[in-house]
Amino acid sequence: MPVDKSESVAIIGAGAWGLSTALHLINAGYSNVTVFDQASEIPSQYSGAYDLNKIVRAEYEDEFYTELALKAINRWKTPLWGSNFHQAGYVLATSGAAPEKAVHHLQTALLSVKDHPAFAQGIVPLNGHDDFQKIYWQFSGPMTGFRGYFNRLAGYAHSSNTMADIHKHLAGRGVKFVFGPVEGKVVKLLYNTTRDPAQQRCTGVQVQSGKTYQARRTILCAGAWAATLVPDIGSFVDAKCWSVAHVKLTQQECDYLRGIPVLNVRDLGFFFEPDPTTKLFKLCPLGGGYVNSNKGKGTSLPPSESLTAPKNYIPASDEEKLRRLLRETLPWMADRPFVEQKMCWFADTSDSEYCVDFVPNSGDSLVVLTGDSGHGFKMMPIVGEWVVKLLADGKQELPRWRWKQSEGKGGKEWGDDVSWRVGTTKQIGEVIGEQNRMAKARL
Ligand SMILES: Cc1cc2nc3c(=O)[nH]c(=O)nc-3n(C[C@H](O)[C@H](O)[C@H](O)COP(=O)(O)OP(=O)(O)OC[C@H]3O[C@@H](n4cnc5c(N)ncnc54)[C@H](O)[C@@H]3O)c2cc1C
Repeated sequence: MPVDKSESVAIIGAGAWGLSTALHLINAGYSNVTVFDQASEIPSQYSGAYDLNKIVRAEYEDEFYTELALKAINRWKTPLWGSNFHQAGYVLATSGAAPEKAVHHLQTALLSVKDHPAFAQGIVPLNGHDDFQKIYWQFSGPMTGFRGYFNRLAGYAHSSNTMADIHKHLAGRGVKFVFGPVEGKVVKLLYNTTRDPAQQRCTGVQVQSGKTYQARRTILCAGAWAATLVPDIGSFVDAKCWSVAHVKLTQQECDYLRGIPVLNVRDLGFFFEPDPTTKLFKLCPLGGGYVNSNKGKGTSLPPSESLTAPKNYIPASDEEKLRRLLRETLPWMADRPFVEQKMCWFADTSDSEYCVDFVPNSGDSLVVLTGDSGHGFKMMPIVGEWVVKLLADGKQELPRWRWKQSEGKGGKEWGDDVSWRVGTTKQIGEVIGEQNRMAKARL
């Protein structure tokens, strides 16, 4: 049956994927779209993309994602998206101390783009200090054993600004937004009353204030929080977090580093050119990340706010990794204080595959977009197309994006299985507890 585009659609979450979904539904002719977010404004402080910048690159070990990312990059270069996209170039590297796994990942990533026609002439191998210094004349560190390649067809996007701009665009095109911890936070999905699971349908949402909204379709784009509303998602998706830190630069330092390509050292972390407005230089350590698992159920969810990691905090081992990265590249910055540190939550799957599908026992009334696995922001310009297609097709044609509850991997350790991550996944509560105990012992 053809889709009725005047039907009511409720989108839960105005992060990167929820906003993209609203955009593509409107572009496809849907006229009654309402987006809910627990944050009071956009960009949402709870979004994994509430950040200065995110890497936009197309090299993947899996050609499927390479092609998707290339499509997304082409869209980043259009007027709606282009002001937030910076094709500054991208260096993927390993340090001399990198484990074999990181070196292998680097080689496969290079193979995925080296002979791809889209990158012809755009890839430069970097074999040691002198090659790196040709790209980064500002780097005075030893870059001990650094190897990698430069891809000039990649870069980064300003993620908070992108979400703010797309929100403004959508509000101007008639998308309704409901924000805030009371009116915008969805606490419950509504269902029809039936004993027959095959007839069960999601009929809308209830927000914290108690108010209800009826919707023919509900689309769950709640990032790391998805399992709070559909607990079964927690059986194959873990809420996971990584650290983010910044160094506040002077105007002169900021100008000095302007135009550097993104540097991603797989066994240490990555950084971007400084943001000219805030003069913040953003860094992220790489690793298996942290979960917050419920001991009984195994499901990992972001901690409630009162339990969240202390403000302006990252684990000591992550700080050490970032300082090592700076000592190797920009030693003058290596002992500077880190500011605006935070733990940033995303929705992780064991195979890094996204999930874009109808929730079982909901007919075609409830869709979930989850499992961004920490590589979903770059896709923001095209994500909503996948939802439009799903609604039109009535089923997910791509097996890799189907609901995978039967795997039952939620809450299990898979950090070290992911080819592009080095290190195991830890419980965030234990890491914070251990650090607090050590700090007390030093007093
Ligand atoms: C440290 C870090 C670095 C990353 N780096 C990159 C990168 O370099 N490149 C890249 O492509 N990707 C990167 N990512 C991943 C990227 O941020 C995510 O893929 C992207 O944000 C996923 O979008 P989303 O809409 O699914 O979730 P989010 O952007 O997290 O949005 C979810 C939204 O749902 C809202 N919400 C949740 N529950 C409710 C509720 N009950 N009611 C109402 N609203 C609710 C939240 O408030 C939030 O706004 C990174 C992620 C992290 C954490």
